[in-house]
Amino acid sequence: MRLRPKSWVLAPLFVLGGLLGTLLLPFPRARLAPDARISLRLTDRNGVLLREVLSEKGGRSRWVQLSEVSPYLVKATLAAEDRNFFLHRGLHIPSVVRALWQNVRRGHVVSGASTISQQVVRNIEPRPRTLSAKVYEAWLAMRLERTVSKDEILAQYLNRVPYGNQAFGVDAAARLYFRKPPSDLSLAEAAFLAALPRAPSLSNPYHDPAPALRRQREIIAAMKRQGLVLPDEADRALAEPLAVSPPGESFRAPHFTTAVLGGLTAAERAGLAEIRTTLDAPLQEKAEALVRGHVERLVRGGVTNAAVIVLDNAAGHILSWVGSYDFFDPDIAGQVDGVLSPRQPGSALKPFTYALALEAGMTAATLIDDAPAGFAAPGGSYRPENYDGHYHGRVRLRSALACSYNVPAVATLAEVGTERLYRKLRDLGVDSLSQPPGYYGAGLTLGNGEVTLLELSRAYMALARGGNFVRERSVLATFDRAGTEREAPSQPAPSRAFSPSAAFIVTDILADADARVPAFGYGSPLNLPFPCASKTGTSKDYRDNWTVGYTTDYTVGVWVGNFDGRPMEGVSGITGCGPLFRDVMLLLHRDRRPSAFRPPADIVRRTVCAASGELASAGCSTRVEEIFAVGTAPELICDVNHDAEEGPASRAPLVSIPRRVSAVPVGPRIVFPEDGAVFQVDPVLRAEYQKVRCRASLGGLEGLRALEWYVDEARAGTSSGATWVWNLRPGSYTIKAVAVTGRGRVASPPVRVTVLGP
Ligand SMILES: [Zn+2]
Repeated sequence: MRLRPKSWVLAPLFVLGGLLGTLLLPFPRARLAPDARISLRLTDRNGVLLREVLSEKGGRSRWVQLSEVSPYLVKATLAAEDRNFFLHRGLHIPSVVRALWQNVRRGHVVSGASTISQQVVRNIEPRPRTLSAKVYEAWLAMRLERTVSKDEILAQYLNRVPYGNQAFGVDAAARLYFRKPPSDLSLAEAAFLAALPRAPSLSNPYHDPAPALRRQREIIAAMKRQGLVLPDEADRALAEPLAVSPPGESFRAPHFTTAVLGGLTAAERAGLAEIRTTLDAPLQEKAEALVRGHVERLVRGGVTNAAVIVLDNAAGHILSWVGSYDFFDPDIAGQVDGVLSPRQPGSALKPFTYALALEAGMTAATLIDDAPAGFAAPGGSYRPENYDGHYHGRVRLRSALACSYNVPAVATLAEVGTERLYRKLRDLGVDSLSQPPGYYGAGLTLGNGEVTLLELSRAYMALARGGNFVRERSVLATFDRAGTEREAPSQPAPSRAFSPSAAFIVTDILADADARVPAFGYGSPLNLPFPCASKTGTSKDYRDNWTVGYTTDYTVGVWVGNFDGRPMEGVSGITGCGPLFRDVMLLLHRDRRPSAFRPPADIVRRTVCAASGELASAGCSTRVEEIFAVGTAPELICDVNHDAEEGPASRAPLVSIPRRVSAVPVGPRIVFPEDGAVFQVDPVLRAEYQKVRCRASLGGLEGLRALEWYVDEARAGTSSGATWVWNLRPGSYTIKAVAVTGRGRVASPPVRVTVLGP
């Protein structure tokens, strides 16, 4: 059949009419229902909210009525986003024309110019920003306008729009940024919130508040121009200082909660409403404050970060977890978690070497050679040196561990075997040691492998528990949406990592304040007013400082350093981590002192000769009390002729070390401070930290009786070892060390030092 010409004219009109007719279709109301965003709450051990996450879009929100929103926010939103909102029917035609013109000129979509109705449609169902999507959104927006009231569209907008930092909707935003419900917002606060949705990531007030504040002022000015507020109201708001709340309070223990969430599979998370963690929120807050205070104390030493973890020994619960100085500070990479970052532990692994040696039959009185020696290592021979640049002759195992001497640790590992230490550390949950043992070699005991603070603390907790290893726990219980507790996955059973006697002897040494005096001096921050075992570590070039230790009740791990690996200046385990470790321990035991470490039944006490390690006789000049596992206590009485001896015992050591002659020039040399060093007296630090530990290398000199220290040619002190503590006072000085030996006196080259005033 042939169409009459008239139909050709009418057809496009029918099509257009049909299209316009679709605008009469109501907007599907089901899509306006509040999003099903079921939140997952992470709480501390007592139910205190730490963090709330949403299972759908991953933000926080609660649906509110328009009547629950401050009128200021409604007006500010209109001024900021759509001042013709009450005049248009979903589209603002002049804006559309302008946008179209700009799009044609630039050849792509550049201009937003969306009405609030269009934004509601886009938030319900986000689409890529193409021209066709915009046309489709405009069509939906017009249908929305025909279906619901203007007030409902506004309510939809205010409940859906993202305000940045995972806050969707006004309720979440008002509570996040101002700690108040949206009904209580002031004009200044309302204008601030209205400034955020346009570019929530660009105007994130936690990164840089300036852009949001600039826009807030523009919005207040616009409100004044449009007569939405009275002029003096606007002026008051412009003068109002805005207090944006820090995010920490609604997002507590950020590293810990992130780790807990990361440890759950999607299947485990599904349907969960609450995760009751092991964390102690009040303790966490105090630990965070201690980290902040100590990093600020150490900032002149080039320190930007620190991390702390606290474990409860009895249950293995994580009580506190501070991953960085400030999670929300991108300048220091604050989101990196110092508890989980693998780094070199320095000396912090030595106790495990000695625990294995004790199990293998060595005792705390075993003499170990501390002398220049070479050890087989991957890629050739390895020559460990001590921190103080000095060898100490034959030392008892107790002194070797307490003073953290390197050569005896490597010699002991040579006896124990790298492979055994490696396997033991893996059994103790030091999972970061992912290379085969040969890769680390003898340096494993000196910390050449990388481990995390969590792993170190986990391993130390086994010592604290008398050799009984258990993995730490971070979750107490989980609850589904009906509030029913889910059955917890079964925990691996505790296992025996060390014999009770080996664990106890290591603990006794690490808690022995007297034994560490030769290396660390008196008044060390590690000397606590109650029994506490601890060990420090410092990685190469002062990049990392560690202190890990425990009382009978708690294990505490502390790391200080920089995430970018920048070395610190003159910050050691003792000055860097030690005071922070001390403060955390004092905090934990503020109300209740821990009990003494209790020896297992098979520990016996004997008085031994310090020089030979055998039972002391009447002729022994230095007698010490020592503890032994039954069956390993010495049975022979010392028969060394102490009158005839030159230095320490002449008896063959139980651990023998292949000696090699060193080829360094003979004669003392000051290795610290360096010539030309400049120090500054710090007005903040306590006087006891205003000291410099001067250190001399003896350069192979033998028969040292004492070192005399001269400041500006006047004798300022004498040391029996290679270090001497000098109190800083402003001025310029020349320091010299004079070695006194049986053959005479040898002076070091002078070192010039300047001390600046505060
Ligand atoms: Zn003796």
